[in-house]
Amino acid sequence: MAAYTWIDHTFDVVVVGAGGSGLRAALGCAQAGLKTACVTKVFPTRSHTVAAQGGISAALGNMGEDKWQWHMFDTVKGSDWLGDQDAIEYLTRNAPAAVYELEHWGVPFSRTENGKIYQRAFGGMTRNYGEAPVQRTCAAADRTGHAMLHTMYGQSLRYDVDFFVEYFALDLIMEDGACRGLTAWKLDDGTLHRFRAQTVVIATGGYGRAFLSCTGAHTQTGDGNAMVLRAGLPLQDMEFVQFHPTGIFPAGCLITEGARGEGGYLTNANGERFMERYAPTVKDLAPRDMVSRAMTVEIREGRGVGPNKDHIHLHLEHLDPKVLHERLPGISESAKIFAGVDVTREPIPVLPTVHYNMGGIPTNYHGEVLTKVNGEQRVAPGLMAVGEAACVSVHGANRLGSNSLIDLVVFGRAVGLRCGETLKANATQPMLAKDAGDAHLARFDKFRHANGKTSTAQLRDRMQRAMQDTCAVYRTGAVLQEGVDRMARLWDEAPDVRVTDRSLIWNTDLVETLEFDNLMGQAIVTVNGGLNRTESRGAHAREDFPERDDENWMKHTLAWLDAKTGKVRLDYRPVHTNTMTNEVEYIPPKKRVY
Ligand SMILES: Cc1cc2nc3c(=O)[nH]c(=O)nc-3n(C[C@H](O)[C@H](O)[C@H](O)COP(=O)(O)OP(=O)(O)OC[C@H]3O[C@@H](n4cnc5c(N)ncnc54)[C@H](O)[C@@H]3O)c2cc1C
Repeated sequence: MAAYTWIDHTFDVVVVGAGGSGLRAALGCAQAGLKTACVTKVFPTRSHTVAAQGGISAALGNMGEDKWQWHMFDTVKGSDWLGDQDAIEYLTRNAPAAVYELEHWGVPFSRTENGKIYQRAFGGMTRNYGEAPVQRTCAAADRTGHAMLHTMYGQSLRYDVDFFVEYFALDLIMEDGACRGLTAWKLDDGTLHRFRAQTVVIATGGYGRAFLSCTGAHTQTGDGNAMVLRAGLPLQDMEFVQFHPTGIFPAGCLITEGARGEGGYLTNANGERFMERYAPTVKDLAPRDMVSRAMTVEIREGRGVGPNKDHIHLHLEHLDPKVLHERLPGISESAKIFAGVDVTREPIPVLPTVHYNMGGIPTNYHGEVLTKVNGEQRVAPGLMAVGEAACVSVHGANRLGSNSLIDLVVFGRAVGLRCGETLKANATQPMLAKDAGDAHLARFDKFRHANGKTSTAQLRDRMQRAMQDTCAVYRTGAVLQEGVDRMARLWDEAPDVRVTDRSLIWNTDLVETLEFDNLMGQAIVTVNGGLNRTESRGAHAREDFPERDDENWMKHTLAWLDAKTGKVRLDYRPVHTNTMTNEVEYIPPKKRVY
């Protein structure tokens, strides 16, 4: 192994990730007087949060009556009863205050005539326990994430957050099951860094790039999830992968659900508004899992549009051009660039595309990471997680549109509050073991000098195709088994990887190889979890087990990966059906009709 030297740092808290969740958590920790670092592989405002379009949910009631209890009901129902109800109460109760905080920080929300924050309709968001769609999603045109991320980055600079920009986090430093810090590689000068901290907060986002076609950024490789797996801790509910109904065909870029919120609708080859058959009350505004399944059925039964009958049309051309211009300028532009379509005249070709990971690092609603040791649930000391990387779980088996952006800020704030309560600023920390991080360097050096025959791009392509083919909108045992086998073979073949650049400075070949290795572990637990769960719930639709089975499966999957063999071990956690307070009016009956 080449000789490497560490540059050491000590902080009270190190947050990995500078998307919406990481920035909110870092800002909160700094507000609490803690010495806080934020480590990020891309410049903060390039995090995927910047691409969020449609908006952020909160029962403000600006467009008609609304209350957090209705939002809670919708989220429990949307999650197909896999969401933890105490966490969902925490989310929906605290959502309005979190949006007002963003407003006061300067997020340029779109406005109503009388100056209030504009809210639009989104899938699964209803009035009075499912009666009719409600306008609950606060929006800054269709560039809400962009507005939020830039505002929060600006705010975080007011506080003393130390940013480590373009540092690629490698692994967690673990001692006796507790997290003591992490290691990172500085991309522009090749130096290696060891961060010691009382608490590490993982905010590294989702892993959409395990699939061939996804709406997410190329950087969405779930590095934090992979670090957790390598630390010997479990990931939760990874079999639940959200397909967004309206990725542009075939590029995969997103057209926000807000397009349907503003009155857009889907048609098949007969020009039929088919969602009326699948969800008579809310129609095109049904939750994403249902719309994606309906579209897949239409295509399978020969009613897809286009020469190959392989996609669906999304219509906006009937909308007032002023509405398109004011409320949906970004997607009008995307449709032009990626499909050559003028949305004021023609429909947009769309297809369900991988969009969001409901699964991730299990946490409680304070953001503390959970694990299970000898059959007992425990908090992993020194480790927290937030945002799409985390599984709180408020989204359960299916996330409602606009519930992620609110999850980022509500639980990002919760992490800051928890750290403020439990940590002492500048407390003395024990020395790290002398060899802390050596194993991380060995992995790093192995890939840096990897001299096999297959390029990272070839291996990644095989993984992405295996996942896309076998872990899609509809699944069966036989196809999932094929996925498990293909991924196992790929695991055995991956050591044949070839990295051509040996340098330490801006070595994108090595970055992509580390990211590919991170994706592999997550892809394996995802497809194994899918094979294991013999029921249909939310985004996990098994054709061989079409019913939800609460008796056997109303529980969270926990998945561990053996880093040597690539074998998966599975266990479970109960779903919290208890609420946080007893102020909840009504928990939905377990029927999911829209
Ligand atoms: C196109 C699109 C549109 C969306 N629209 C909406 C919407 O309208 N409403 C809604 O609620 N949700 C929406 N979502 C979902 C939502 O935007 C995401 O779930 C959310 O932004 C994720 O935020 P995050 O903070 O968890 O992570 P991200 O914003 O993905 O940020 C991840 C951070 O982790 C850092 N990182 C990752 N790996 C490493 C590493 N190894 N070392 C150092 N740093 C690392 C990155 O640098 C980055 O700063 C959308 C998603 C997409 C893809």
